[in-house]
Amino acid sequence: MIKKGIAASKGYAIGHVFVKANSEIEIVEKAITNIDEEKARFEKAVEASRNQLKAIKEKAEKDLGADKAAVFESHIMLLDDPEFTGSAASKIENEKINAEKALSDVIDMYMQIFAGIEDEYMKERAADVKDVGTRVLNNLAGNGGGDLGSLDKNTIVVAHDLTPSDTAQLDKDKVIAFLTNIGGRTSHSAIMARTLEIPAIVGLQDIMDTVKNGDAVIVDGVEGIAIVNPDEKTLNEYTEKKKEFEKKQEELKKLISIETTTKAGKRVEVCGNIGKAKDVDAVLANGGDGVGLFRTEFLYMDRDSMPTEDEQFEAYKHVVEKMGKKPVVIRTLDIGGDKKLTYLPLPEEMNPFLGYRAIRLCLGRKDIFKVQLRALLRASVYGNLKIMFPMISSLEEFLEAKDVLKECMGELEKEGKAFNANLETGIMVEIPAAAVNSEELAKHVDFFSIGTNDLIQYTLAADRMNEKVSYLYNPMHPAVLKLIKMTIESAHKEGKWCGMCGEMAGDEKAIPTLVEYGLDEFSMSASSILTAKELIMKA
Ligand code: PEP
Ligand code: MG
Repeated sequence: MIKKGIAASKGYAIGHVFVKANSEIEIVEKAITNIDEEKARFEKAVEASRNQLKAIKEKAEKDLGADKAAVFESHIMLLDDPEFTGSAASKIENEKINAEKALSDVIDMYMQIFAGIEDEYMKERAADVKDVGTRVLNNLAGNGGGDLGSLDKNTIVVAHDLTPSDTAQLDKDKVIAFLTNIGGRTSHSAIMARTLEIPAIVGLQDIMDTVKNGDAVIVDGVEGIAIVNPDEKTLNEYTEKKKEFEKKQEELKKLISIETTTKAGKRVEVCGNIGKAKDVDAVLANGGDGVGLFRTEFLYMDRDSMPTEDEQFEAYKHVVEKMGKKPVVIRTLDIGGDKKLTYLPLPEEMNPFLGYRAIRLCLGRKDIFKVQLRALLRASVYGNLKIMFPMISSLEEFLEAKDVLKECMGELEKEGKAFNANLETGIMVEIPAAAVNSEELAKHVDFFSIGTNDLIQYTLAADRMNEKVSYLYNPMHPAVLKLIKMTIESAHKEGKWCGMCGEMAGDEKAIPTLVEYGLDEFSMSASSILTAKELIMKA
């Protein structure tokens, strides 16, 4: 069976399916006749959960350090808690109900108790109970633990959607591709696939209902086609295509150390976008001239509390040191929209993409903002670090952000801590108002970086994550092109440089136009750098 979706990350993969269940599991009460059998089934699910958590804990210890891994130890302990799993087992016995219903009643009971307590620590315990309980329920449903941390080799993950924290858990040695029901080329799952350099297709609409665990599947990330349980002939055909693709990728490597110059003789920079400090290796391996966008929000995700100033400092220092003299543009926290933090609860919004996010949130929560700015300033002495503010819609916002930065400089000076007082500060041009008003903004900033992922969705009123309107989401729409041209010209008029860190910078169809407009820096997923270099040199 062939399914067509939106090609989100190039390449070919041949593997077997793991269906990631939706986190909400439907609980149906059933009367039980064989109590021992049901209790044994429950015990088996608890045991499977214990083994998964041990594996996750080990991985976390290696990747994140012992303190971050400690949370999983407390999860393992919960599995042995007589008040938790013990209560569920008693319920099976006393009420003669199925394990799912018994356990979900216990979880609900705890949620109700915790809901009435206004204490941060207790709220976290509630989250732990929910987390561990959901894992056991997933094991009862035969979905594995429902998480992506402990999969077999050659797995192709199939999901309704993958959240940024799901993708952060993916282990490239095991997961070779993914397929999702929803999403577009610039949804975060797609961007993450390109960062991980694994093929992906999004917006497949009903792929989750079409496949089951263990099915063989071919992922054609070039055409956006998934072939479920292929015949031998198709399998051979794609094994060949995969080889060819890998050969072409190999050939492109000759461009790694070559400077990129357009036909007209203009030297441009081709940089990489990163989400985690360690992604910098892929940028260097692909011959990136710098980091054009460090999405720092990923440092804040997949954890229980805000990263401290020192933790952030270490991450930023690692990146700038690794890049040596090459520029590193670090974007301040862009949380909100589809990127949420469990430990920073914010009110539900009708339109999260038009809501309290990014610079708006940072200017409203200067306590959070200042921790990051201090860490960035301290790291600035170790390399060529530039700070970029996201979602700027007016000059006032930029000036206010700069004021907070100056305040942090003053503090560090008093504390005798070093920083580069002359570091460049710029903005993302991703709201149409900033592009339209770019002449004025260019007088104040050191650089622009055009965030086309958002700029296109706001200009055309077409949600970047919604496959139903993806036909409207057109980077080459004349209105979008006008805004881009205007932004580049405004920067140049003031002697500033203009880059682009939205996905359009690596879009093969757009590159000739962007070169014609005089874009100075192209920043994209590391896996697109070499293809882009080749195209820019031809343009
Ligand atoms: C953009 O909007 O183009 C961008 C680069 O930022 P993000 O994709 O993180 O919103
Ligand atoms: Mg954006």
